[in-house]
Amino acid sequence: MLDLILRTCRLPDRAEPVDLAIAGGRIREVGAASGPARETIDVAGRLVTPGLVDSHMHLDKALLTERVAGSAETAAEAIRLTGAAKRAFTAADIAGRARRVLDLAVAAGTTAMRAHVEVDPIVGLMGMGAMLALKREYAPAVDLQLCAFAQEGILQAPPTETLLRRALEMGADLIGGCPYNDTDARRHIEVVFALAAEFGVDADFHVDFSDEPEHLHVREIVRQTIRAGWQGRVAAGHLTELAALPGPEQAALVAELAAARIGVISLPLTDLYLMGRRDELNVRRGLTPIRRLLEAGVPVALASNNVRNPFTPIGTADPAHLTFVAAVAAHMGTRDLMRDLVATVTTHPARILNLRDYGCGAGCRADLVVWECERLDEIVMALPPRRLVVKGGRVSVEHERRIVERWRSDDASRAPSG
Ligand SMILES: [Zn+2]
Repeated sequence: MLDLILRTCRLPDRAEPVDLAIAGGRIREVGAASGPARETIDVAGRLVTPGLVDSHMHLDKALLTERVAGSAETAAEAIRLTGAAKRAFTAADIAGRARRVLDLAVAAGTTAMRAHVEVDPIVGLMGMGAMLALKREYAPAVDLQLCAFAQEGILQAPPTETLLRRALEMGADLIGGCPYNDTDARRHIEVVFALAAEFGVDADFHVDFSDEPEHLHVREIVRQTIRAGWQGRVAAGHLTELAALPGPEQAALVAELAAARIGVISLPLTDLYLMGRRDELNVRRGLTPIRRLLEAGVPVALASNNVRNPFTPIGTADPAHLTFVAAVAAHMGTRDLMRDLVATVTTHPARILNLRDYGCGAGCRADLVVWECERLDEIVMALPPRRLVVKGGRVSVEHERRIVERWRSDDASRAPSG
């Protein structure tokens, strides 16, 4: 007995619609499926993709705009404003705001997410405790990877190293660093790699978040990735400084990233908002060079980062919105480039997060999105509703939408009654 049959699915790499037969949380067959099945849904030729992957999110400091006075002009100011708000956090408050964002993400079709959880002398392990409970609560809808993250620095904020170790013992999935916000970036990166090796986990850095190439700590991350043998297990978020390097130097560094199999996570809403603030004319966009990285074979993800806080005053936790913004901000408007943009919220982040059995093929985990469109580029250009979301072989979200165009009805029915 199958659990679910989705009939007439339009898969991105196939000309004709196919059925997907699902059992035990996995796609068993791609083709003409025959039952019996507990549930059969005809999706009528709509596009079906694997679930969306939001590879960089801060649930613990989301939705702060109502309680933080003023808006940040720089990353340093955003860290300061959020740090002040963080002093009033409680576990229930973190969980309440995180749930609201997770609910948005799940309805948007996100089936896997990496959340950075702040671990520092201000909040201690409170955020990690709250997020571990949410990881269990939301497991039927989204796989949460929790990154123990040193936003306030490690060396300048003792005893953060001890707290990070404790977070990993509690069950954090990986370790995250922020070398630009510490007194000794090289040593900061060393501590992160030492913890990654000690616990056998991946590493994820917030790095080189400035308009000018004034840090380039990613060079040290490349060195330490190779020294540790951690190729394919390291991600670099922001990396906006890469865009300011002259051509040959940029190409050389991009080649180093490709060789070390480091994934790059662009955070377009935050980067567009906080970069270029000192430019009075010809304001820079402040995005990492997404197209050049993709052309060099580097896995590139677009991710939400922050939802409505001093770093990013807006946000919907919908990865498709990021592709919509990047199509114009990163000059990716052809049909092929828009397909590449869909990969930045699906297959590329799946690779960066080392998700196993991701995709729409037989044997893959049945985490799927049914879209109100037929082609991949329509996701980017039109942000179609998600008709259905499937997680672990079960329908997790149904989206029903009803618009009544009363203006089209005849005069008699429009006339006010009485
Ligand atoms: Zn971040």
